[in-house]
Amino acid sequence: MACEREQLTQLIERKNLRATEARCRILELLHETHEHYTPEEMLEALRERGKPLSIATLYQNLQKLSETGLIARFVGPDGHTRYDVNTRPHHHLVCKICGRMVDVGVEGPLASLRPRALFAEEEGEVAAWQVGDVHLEFHGVCPACQARQADRERPTA
Ligand SMILES: [Zn+2]
Ligand SMILES: [Zn+2]
Repeated sequence: MACEREQLTQLIERKNLRATEARCRILELLHETHEHYTPEEMLEALRERGKPLSIATLYQNLQKLSETGLIARFVGPDGHTRYDVNTRPHHHLVCKICGRMVDVGVEGPLASLRPRALFAEEEGEVAAWQVGDVHLEFHGVCPACQARQADRERPTA
């Protein structure tokens, strides 16, 4: 069975994969929410949408989708493996309270950033590295958590 959305079917078939129901459900969830789920979170989110998958099917397809570059696998700041539907270079804004993760670009000339050795004995090595891309992780408190904090701090009558 093909995806409800023609666009997703095309995206999957362009990678020479069959647009199976499971692959459609996973990509649809990721494209619509832009969340950076762990497999467990994805399982729960799919169940909530009324489009559940078994854990085995989910793992199998996450493997296939990341192998073909349709999604990216990365290890989040909490040490859990997560999946990202945004496969272009980007950075993450991470809430240190609830873990919300937002894709961001950066202001300023990132291309001019260079790594600098922190230990004298590594100066030569660091200078000799061929640096490819830069991945930044901004940590802070999201607006929803700020609001919750403000609520807690407000004296109760
Ligand atoms: Zn938060
Ligand atoms: Zn991302």
